[in-house]
Amino acid sequence: MTTQTPSKTARSEALFARARAVTPGGVNSPVRAFKSVGGTPRFIREAHGAYLTDADGERFVDYIGSWGPMILGHNHPAVREAVADALQFGTSFGAPGEREVELAELVTRLTGAGKVRFTSSGTEATMSALRVARGFTDRKLIVKFRGNYHGHADGLLVEAGSGLMTNLDGPLGESAPSSAGVPPEYAALTLVSEYNDPAALDTLMAERGPEVAAVIFEPVVGNAGVLIPTPEFLAALHRVQNGGALLIADEVMTGFRLSLSGATGLLGLRPDLSCWGKIIGGGLPVGAYGGRSDVMDFVSPQGPVYQAGTLSGNPLAMAAGLATLRTLETDPGVYGRLETYTSRLADGLKSLAAETGVPISVNRIGSMLTPFFQDVPHGSVRNYAQAARSDTQAFGAWFRELLSRGIYWAPSQFESIFVSAAHTDAELNATLEAARAAFADLN
Ligand code: PLP
Repeated sequence: MTTQTPSKTARSEALFARARAVTPGGVNSPVRAFKSVGGTPRFIREAHGAYLTDADGERFVDYIGSWGPMILGHNHPAVREAVADALQFGTSFGAPGEREVELAELVTRLTGAGKVRFTSSGTEATMSALRVARGFTDRKLIVKFRGNYHGHADGLLVEAGSGLMTNLDGPLGESAPSSAGVPPEYAALTLVSEYNDPAALDTLMAERGPEVAAVIFEPVVGNAGVLIPTPEFLAALHRVQNGGALLIADEVMTGFRLSLSGATGLLGLRPDLSCWGKIIGGGLPVGAYGGRSDVMDFVSPQGPVYQAGTLSGNPLAMAAGLATLRTLETDPGVYGRLETYTSRLADGLKSLAAETGVPISVNRIGSMLTPFFQDVPHGSVRNYAQAARSDTQAFGAWFRELLSRGIYWAPSQFESIFVSAAHTDAELNATLEAARAAFADLN
């Protein structure tokens, strides 16, 4: 790993300047701009295995994995070959094809869902799942949790995570849009409760339950940094089903990452519907929602709830998803290896921080991990209000130091990192070496 000098970002800087002239903030998704951590966002030229190479030719160990999809590592031969093979036969049909059936069969088998519908993004999946829930229950309200992010549909940009939080001290149950352009009337249909607070959810459902179509949640939160649900909270989530509200697990991030059957399989959840994205498309644009067949049969053309997509079920995207899921399925050791790497990373970070006297609290499950820059003497960070107490300045300085040493960490305190199957001891050692220097630098 080499230490970078400013000249090593010359091309990224030039591209960023050009991009800012023609694209809002110079990026096509906000976190890529490095706004909360500072420094020049690196423009990426290529990605292989555990590495990204930027426009200046600098190489980084990648912990973003395109924000989750690249669980096998970048440009995995099985995925590349499947896409190349599909490409010979055309890029989009606008009519059904065999790969959609194959991927739906695979996803239903792995997840236990009765039926699935493919979309082109996670945002479309959650938006559509909520529409179906409203159509099925004939109720208007939805419940979500502070700091959970479910994509950028209007009704879900309410106390959403990853830096969108605006109303941390407001009363629970009230709804504040997290974005300009979301009418308060839309936000009013979204009730908000606190993650990992079973009593708050019980109270809200006791008051408003008969109006609630669905409770949507991240089964493990990645979008406020990693937050792990307590068994008591999971039990409260299941209680909402008794009152007729549907339980929707947003597995866009956790699906096929925490296990082949997602967080649902790992934690023993029984959602009515689930949403997927990221890994299900193997790095191409795919989302999906599915679950109980009686609910999914409300989707058009079978039922009265409309939902459609020009590129839904795209053959290249289906090929990438199939190759990714099949590779995961035929490598039974893969989740164990991800677990080992990431737990060693967590332990390493904790002991390095302790050696240098930097207070951190690491939340980790499987290959998802966040080091919160704060001291949590007892227990761990459990909700967004706690996560928000982290020292974001210290995190930013640590992030920049890692980047200068060739480690591309997630550029926000309130994100998970994602380890891939291509990460080996060499990357782990390089990461811990850089982290040691970055912690030391904070003092
Ligand atoms: N749900 C969760 C849990 C997510 O993490 C994301 C994106 O990060 C989404 C939904 C939205 O997915 P997409 O960005 O594909 O629209």
